[in-house]
Amino acid sequence: MKIVSLQAKRYRRAFRKPLITSHGPISERTGWIIRAENEDGMAGFGEAADSLPGFGKNDTNSVESDQAVLKQLEVALPDVEFDTLWMRFKELIKICPDHASPAMRFGFETAVCDVAARKHEIPLSEWISPFSPSAVPVNYLLPSPVDDWGLVKAEISTCRYPAVKIKVGAGEIADDVATVKKLRTMLDYSPAIRLDANQAWDYDTALAVLDVMSEYDIEYVEEPLKVFDYDLLMRLKEETGIEMAIDESLTLIDDIYELLSRKGSLVLILKPSLLGHILTPRHITLNAGVNDCRAVITSNLETEIGIAAQLHLAASSWDQKETCGLDTLRLFRRGNPALMQVTDGVIKLPSGSGIGDGIGEEIWDNL
Ligand SMILES: [Mg+2]
Repeated sequence: MKIVSLQAKRYRRAFRKPLITSHGPISERTGWIIRAENEDGMAGFGEAADSLPGFGKNDTNSVESDQAVLKQLEVALPDVEFDTLWMRFKELIKICPDHASPAMRFGFETAVCDVAARKHEIPLSEWISPFSPSAVPVNYLLPSPVDDWGLVKAEISTCRYPAVKIKVGAGEIADDVATVKKLRTMLDYSPAIRLDANQAWDYDTALAVLDVMSEYDIEYVEEPLKVFDYDLLMRLKEETGIEMAIDESLTLIDDIYELLSRKGSLVLILKPSLLGHILTPRHITLNAGVNDCRAVITSNLETEIGIAAQLHLAASSWDQKETCGLDTLRLFRRGNPALMQVTDGVIKLPSGSGIGDGIGEEIWDNL
């Protein structure tokens, strides 16, 4: 298979309300949708979301640098013959220039893999692994601050999310504790509670907060410390009895493998668009399992095309059956979250081949 045309369009999508993190508020998402077409006129799609301030330190994309990468790819691609079996997809990894941002790499690879899967008339997940399930469990991301607890209760209860993720550390500690307490006591079932502090605390503050929080049965806390320190994290875990998760402090693939080799029972939050290759999260997930760690595939707040790709990826990395952080489409003001709705705690993979029917030309045409 040859890719004879590569196009990209910019998108800008506003959130229903700004997301408050300890790195500051985020009010909109921008990035690229990439369209790759093969010699049969079949198209595949990928998304390269722009880097978010404070997240993904190795992601230094700019519109100009991305444009330069796209131009280079456009020139090089027609000469490359892709074998459409994923095990032989090495050409894909080699072709992207070294200076491409991880998100651009991920978006480009997704688009080409999408064409290959569509060519075989199978879902992307199945193209990667024939044993992939057709649905992925997801967590609920609690709005911060919560304006309407009635709505939150209705959303969680109706969809039966297996886990709820709460952003903490951006405001008063007492408010964070009150939020966790409220959530733990208002539902008619007990979802796992995940905290994400986005590097808000020093060690003593983290210890004090988590000591109080441990009463509410916390599954894990992401990035509790201002500065990544493996030994301190292990100490914090020991002292609080709460599992520790790593997200934005580790985006370099080599660092992740180094961490896995320590077998420290950590939870790795894997954001495919920050890791930079579509197949890397699956490989890390498989390695995490044999190294006493867990891996949770989580979006970097992409739109439909990026989320659909990551759902397929999560399904193909099924070995650990983790609840993923992929229910983020409903944070956007417009779009079509009905394409990937949560029922009984899972999102069913979009039907059809590649990343899914209705998630391709229809979205591209309306950008
Ligand atoms: Mg996080």
